[in-house]
Amino acid sequence: SQQSTTFPLEFELTPSETARSNAERETILADPGFGKHFTDHMVTIDWTVEEGWHDARVTPYGPLLLDPASSVLHYGQEIFEGMKAYRHADGSIWTFRPEKNAERLQSSARRLALPELPVADFIESVKQIIAVDGQWVPDAPETSLYLRPFMIANESFLGVRAAHKVGYYVIASPAGAYFTDGVAPVSIWLSTEYSRAGRGGTGAAKCGGNYAASLLPQREAYDNGCAQVLFLDGETGTHIDELGGMNVFFVHGTDTLVTPRLTGTILEGVTRDSIMQLARDRGMTVVERDVTVDEWRDGVASGEITEVFACGTAAVVTPIAQLKGAGFEIGSADAPAGEITMALRQELTDIQYGRLPDRHGWLL
Ligand code: PMP
Repeated sequence: SQQSTTFPLEFELTPSETARSNAERETILADPGFGKHFTDHMVTIDWTVEEGWHDARVTPYGPLLLDPASSVLHYGQEIFEGMKAYRHADGSIWTFRPEKNAERLQSSARRLALPELPVADFIESVKQIIAVDGQWVPDAPETSLYLRPFMIANESFLGVRAAHKVGYYVIASPAGAYFTDGVAPVSIWLSTEYSRAGRGGTGAAKCGGNYAASLLPQREAYDNGCAQVLFLDGETGTHIDELGGMNVFFVHGTDTLVTPRLTGTILEGVTRDSIMQLARDRGMTVVERDVTVDEWRDGVASGEITEVFACGTAAVVTPIAQLKGAGFEIGSADAPAGEITMALRQELTDIQYGRLPDRHGWLL
């Protein structure tokens, strides 16, 4: 059953008695980094086969009590989301296209044989954490409160089948500006030995296993002086899928944007979709198709490809200076950020932070 016992769910609040003081919180918000500090509360919603979604609650942030036989610990039946709450100049707090994250969590749930959380309950869960911990949304430029909804199989049963008991949670973590000294173009590493997804696999789902599989190639990227790893499609190993945690775009000339098409192995980024819309709004042609490494090399050499960038919730838009691999380089490490890349980045963040009108109705 995907039905909750009441629809929409009603959340019960148990306020924290050990919430940080204003001074403690301000100290953290002055330099939050990323993913290190958590707010005073969390959301939990339980699900069972018999009852569906029930017991929605906001409680003090704290450890989960998990039976060691919980299926998530053995078979990795887990999915998650990542999104941000932004503070505008007038103090108000906004999320960006949360229904997209809600729908993606549902499609991840289908692939991982987890129950789908109704979109309205997902959005309410996010509103609840912001309502109770809104003071944790920082206000310095390019800062935000990162929201991490996730779902785990927590039935105590070692049989390999979809769990009959599941927990959904939301935790929140203040995030500092990703680039503190101006947006810096990055080098990325082409993984030729490892794939993150294969045909019929879980590449299009946001599940923990995909990220576990990316850690070794990601370490290879770091070891080679690169910020992230680029994965090729698992089937032919010729065309580009995506980075470990971002989608990738190519600017052709001044008026065309090319990005790998969604083949079932790529995560459909909310930022990816938004960038495509903003590019179309500017009159650019947006093409979703296969892109090979050879095309990248030849395009940079001929001048046809003028800019390359990556995008995702965490860093918004990151210029890519160079692709490195075993024994080759495309582009150069000191290539400056592209003009179109930076204009799209500026426009998207201006909408997110309320500096431009929200013409697509993306803010909630
Ligand atoms: N690809 C992968 C593998 C990711 O983990 C992410 C981050 N969620 C993205 C792309 C970008 O998605 P989004 O724009 O929704 O953050």
